Amino acid sequence: MTQNGFSLSDPVTKLASVGSKRAEAFESLGIKSIRDLLFYFPHRHLNRLTDINSSQVKKYVANDYDGEVTLWGIVISKELISYSKKKVFKVAFKDSNGSFECVWFQSINFFKDKFNTGESYAISGKPTLTRYNHLQFAHPEFDKISQDETASYKSDGKILPVYSLPAALKKKNIGDIGLRNMMYEAVENYTSLLDESLPVNLVKANRLLPFPEAIRNMHFPENQEMLKQAIRRLKYDELFFFEVLIALKKSKIKKEIAGTVYRVDKNIINRFIESLPFELTDSQLEVLSEIRKDLESKHPLNRLVQGDVGSGKTMVALITMLIVVKNGYQAALMAPTEILANQHYITLTKLLNQFDVNVTLLTGGLSGSEKKQGNEDVKSNNADIVIGTHALIESGVEFSNLGLVVIDEQHRFGVAQRARLIDKTKFTDTLIMTATPIPRTLSMSFYGDLDVSVIDKPPANRKPVRTVLRGESSLDNIYKFIIEKAGEGYQSYIVFPLVEESEKIELKAAMTHYEELSKNQLKSLRVGLLHGKMKWNEKEERMKKFANREYDVLISTTVIEVGIDVPGANIILINDANRFGLSQLHQLRGRVGRGAEQAYCVLVTKDEYTILHKKMTFDFNYLSPKQIEKNKAILRLNAMVKFTSGFDLSEIDLKLRGPGDMFSTKQSGMPEFRFANLAEDTALLVKAREDAFSVVNDDHKLKSSENKSIRKKLTESYQKNMEYAGIG
Ligand code: ADP
Ligand code: MG
Repeated sequence: MTQNGFSLSDPVTKLASVGSKRAEAFESLGIKSIRDLLFYFPHRHLNRLTDINSSQVKKYVANDYDGEVTLWGIVISKELISYSKKKVFKVAFKDSNGSFECVWFQSINFFKDKFNTGESYAISGKPTLTRYNHLQFAHPEFDKISQDETASYKSDGKILPVYSLPAALKKKNIGDIGLRNMMYEAVENYTSLLDESLPVNLVKANRLLPFPEAIRNMHFPENQEMLKQAIRRLKYDELFFFEVLIALKKSKIKKEIAGTVYRVDKNIINRFIESLPFELTDSQLEVLSEIRKDLESKHPLNRLVQGDVGSGKTMVALITMLIVVKNGYQAALMAPTEILANQHYITLTKLLNQFDVNVTLLTGGLSGSEKKQGNEDVKSNNADIVIGTHALIESGVEFSNLGLVVIDEQHRFGVAQRARLIDKTKFTDTLIMTATPIPRTLSMSFYGDLDVSVIDKPPANRKPVRTVLRGESSLDNIYKFIIEKAGEGYQSYIVFPLVEESEKIELKAAMTHYEELSKNQLKSLRVGLLHGKMKWNEKEERMKKFANREYDVLISTTVIEVGIDVPGANIILINDANRFGLSQLHQLRGRVGRGAEQAYCVLVTKDEYTILHKKMTFDFNYLSPKQIEKNKAILRLNAMVKFTSGFDLSEIDLKLRGPGDMFSTKQSGMPEFRFANLAEDTALLVKAREDAFSVVNDDHKLKSSENKSIRKKLTESYQKNMEYAGIG
């Protein structure tokens, strides 16, 4: 679109102060056109609108005001004060009618060369009053104000953008003010040319700023509130288009892929449920009824079952497989480890014993002839349920009539592996089980095109695992506790983390601990060892012995982390607990408390950590990002002691790790977010999702005129993602 001779595709040389040399500098940053420049957003703003001075702020603070303010001041002095252990760097400022000070306790070396007498700074933060009644900022944000800015400070008093200034620009003599002026020109002349990317009704319903106005306010906000609204608008856009992609993918699967219609034989299913030693929980039954609807419909089953550790997901998978098998199809159950595959094999064989179902195990550890037999059974439809690891699908086992694929503990499969599995199972009914604690609102989006069911309550007989944090000096007492409890029939896991890079050393560490403990502290007990490097049948034998109560204690690496179910084991001691991630700790703790007995989880770490732990009893929502960064390990351990639900822990994990780390949308081929933060913007996400799904539901080809802007934006900005998602 052109307007008064302006077009968004104009080169940056259209701006008054940009010639070909400067244009080259911009190009090296990927900025060619004015449109590109408009999307070069400031990383922060200087809020100079608050035309207040230090004595006013002092009064506010005395009256309990605890918000942020920006003050502008001239450095009058600075000093480095040393106490016996601590150092403080303090800078004194004066402004129009008073004074204030800034203090730094950390990274002092970095700050102490700045702030020379006579220089002007804009200081932003939450000030407090010291006991000497000084107005003080601790670790504030600050911007050095140049001479000419100082001169204009009083006159324009605006909220000003601060852009990052890469060396390429600096070299061409573009400074803060110069760049700001160029932006101002671009914003003034060009933002009105930007298209609205959303249907008008969505802009209205969500009280969003129109797109051009949002972009203008991103650079030169009229006020703080407008800046907030501009950011909100851009967040909504990102989330909305993210969800549109998901909705399109989902609708494609639903509309274009025909699924098998299964009949559910109520007699058999009821007979099976009655044969169980317990009653299914309401949660399990609810999820099963959702799955049943999928199975009976002509759409494929494409569902994720999310349930905390020990919530009874296996039973849901088993009954689904039973339905499919009774329709004459085969079902494949894949687990991330051979140990878990083997456990499932034992459980299923036992439970299905009376139901004329052939269960076959196919894992790498089998002998050549066993494998051959297994493969033949699968090919000839002799095997109804086939259990294995991902190799089942990847190694090209030939099924005679595969109807359903169940992926257990899918979060444990690598991202690439997951993609391959899902690719291979695209046209089959798929049930995915996961215990990765992910906040519920997010799993809906993260697992995008899958339907999601949640088992939200554990079986009624469960007591929460009692969790404590202990220093290494308490180990002898913990061993005594293990011995005493073994007298009551309790079994225990003792876990050692994979400390060393090298598998050999790791192995040695586990073995050394095993020898030490079984000869000394735990010599009165029967102790077994399990680690990842053992031969398959050796692992199987050790697990079996532990399950059959031939061991009181199993010393193990994290191979027991996923899925292992030994209801008699009710104590887990986790060594060097500070080394584990939160979801891993939760998974490990999930190995105990799987029956009616009171279970215990003892997290062991260095003594000094336990002292810190006691000090850090405050809610970490109030910690600064820096404090969080520094104390992550302690915060994880504190969270483990305080919370038992995987969903609660997932919220904390998300805060500690950040959504990028947890979701890695990059690898999933989905767009990355520049503004939206999945941890913080959940309400907006839920709304954007609703909107996106309703748009796609009404018009899955986005053909209507209202949706023209969506289609345009998708082709302009999301082409790659669409290709990846197979929704060209
Ligand atoms: P997860 O969800 O972690 O995979 P499992 O399916 O292994 O959990 O179940 C954990 C334990 O709970 C198993 O020993 C299982 O037999 C038992 N269990 C499953 N459902 C119920 C139920 N409804 N009532 C009591 N125990 C149950
Ligand atoms: Mg499981």
